[in-house]
Amino acid sequence: MVLDKRRQAIEGDKLEIMRHSAAHVMAEAVQSIFPDAKFGIGPAIESGFYYDFVLPRSLTPDDLPLIETKMGEIITSNLPFIKQEVTKEEARRLFTAQPYKLELIDEIQDEKVSLYQQGSFVDLCRGPHVSSTGEIKAFKLVSIAGAYWRGDEHRPMLQRIYGVAFDTKEALAEHLRRLDEAARRNHRKLGKELDLFSIHEEAGPGLVHWHPRGAVIRRVIEDFWKNEHIKRGYDIVYTPHIAKLDLWKTSGHWEFYRDYLYSPMEVEGQEYIIKPMNCLGHILIYKTRRHSYRELPLRYAELGTVYRYERSGVLHGLSRVRGFTQDDAHIFCRFDQLEDEVVGVLDLARFMVDTFGFTNYQVLLSTRPEKYAGSIQIWEEAIETLRQALAHLRFAYDIDPGEGVFYGPKIDIKFEDAQGRGWQGPTIQVDFNLPQRFDVTYIGEDGKEHLVAMIHRTVLGSMERFLASLIEHYGGAFPVWLAPLQVMVIPVADRHLNYAHKLEAELKSEGVRVEVDARSERVNLKIRQAQLDKIPYMLVVGDKEVAAATVSVRLRSREQLASQSIDSFKKTIKMAIVDKVKDVKL
Ligand SMILES: [Zn+2]
Ligand SMILES: [Zn+2]
Repeated sequence: MVLDKRRQAIEGDKLEIMRHSAAHVMAEAVQSIFPDAKFGIGPAIESGFYYDFVLPRSLTPDDLPLIETKMGEIITSNLPFIKQEVTKEEARRLFTAQPYKLELIDEIQDEKVSLYQQGSFVDLCRGPHVSSTGEIKAFKLVSIAGAYWRGDEHRPMLQRIYGVAFDTKEALAEHLRRLDEAARRNHRKLGKELDLFSIHEEAGPGLVHWHPRGAVIRRVIEDFWKNEHIKRGYDIVYTPHIAKLDLWKTSGHWEFYRDYLYSPMEVEGQEYIIKPMNCLGHILIYKTRRHSYRELPLRYAELGTVYRYERSGVLHGLSRVRGFTQDDAHIFCRFDQLEDEVVGVLDLARFMVDTFGFTNYQVLLSTRPEKYAGSIQIWEEAIETLRQALAHLRFAYDIDPGEGVFYGPKIDIKFEDAQGRGWQGPTIQVDFNLPQRFDVTYIGEDGKEHLVAMIHRTVLGSMERFLASLIEHYGGAFPVWLAPLQVMVIPVADRHLNYAHKLEAELKSEGVRVEVDARSERVNLKIRQAQLDKIPYMLVVGDKEVAAATVSVRLRSREQLASQSIDSFKKTIKMAIVDKVKDVKL
């Protein structure tokens, strides 16, 4: 076992060295095409490598095959990688035409720097490298992107070429197949194609606009979420989007999370900020009156929109944004109720994740970090409580030592999508800090005031990120209950329009999301459009259907069901909606 792990690590290192060597080879190829190229850095990354360049013109995807061919020639020539050490002075002379390399040289602490050369290309590099270019087995260049020098948006933007490299052709082919699948399911691409959401440069990066079809999915999720929470003893609340800065000073957010908060705005001589979290509003609601131990637990839930600053370079579709709606809740309870409450949240989290069709997840329990609020004893007790709760529901979990937030331990659940990629889902955090700072108490059996135990929790995370995971999990073919449009009625000719609209009205009155494709286009074209829109059911109606008062049902999987009565179809679709059937064929 230990040996295996070591072997794996060594294999991993070998791959990484080969990938990094491929980056040098790519740089040589680029230099041969663009002799004036300026070079940034070219590290190995997961599955491959990249290199950043400043070039006389913008690259297009058409450039990649040419660069690949050059790389192929360099690899076939099997050129040795030759290492040499020079003084910084010599290195500066060598790289006078390379401003980015000069900047890197200035930052090296040692007097000597090492260079690697293969063929005509010399690079500043610590190594190590494979011994010759022929050892680079299977590679492909996959994309071009812009990247700020050192990730800093105030520095110039360079052109980055990404490549992948593996030790066999088969491993490369498998990886490319996965990349294709990921591209097909990419939520930014599907978001556009299915008309779900948009992000506008005019409005600002990281700010999501939900289109009618995307908004339908969100509303269905929100309604389901609210109903489930009410069933489980939560109260729904709403809190404002801005609050006085002083409140965030009291909470410690201003001190600890300042980098993520937007600058204050002045209103009547008072400073306000836009809220980064919903917690404080819920605390203020709790504190409007005294609470007896008999009233606890109180569970306040809110689909609360919050705003946090993220650098524009890290923003990504719906999964990394600046404004997002958390499916938030705060539980105020006694310490002796903590375990039951955590069990309740875990059970709800599992139920939600399952309902949306995610079957694999990983659970992490994070313990006390170096800097922490509260006493060691209270931490130990709370961690033990979380362990008990996890054991109670037979959750398998791993410990993430020292990764708790400063104010308390937490449980994170990461679920996997259909491609095996992990998404941050439910989190449950115990908080020893805010009850103290805001003096959040209840009157105990002894008639005295006691601090409450407070839990922060989300089960979906945020509506934005959760929708990204759903889109990618289902590749846009949402289960019937979530599909923005569930049925498209497709009349064969104009004379069937009346019947089509009658069907539409009848299904609408049953709460089904349905439209008629009334365009005078060929039936096949309308079917194709509905399939592209991933609408679960297509009802094709022509002379036969009108005469017999039936519908001919086609699924987006292209499967054709037997002709059936309208009532029978109504029953089928209502069952798929009510049971939240996950069959993606539908
Ligand atoms: Zn190198
Ligand atoms: Zn909170």
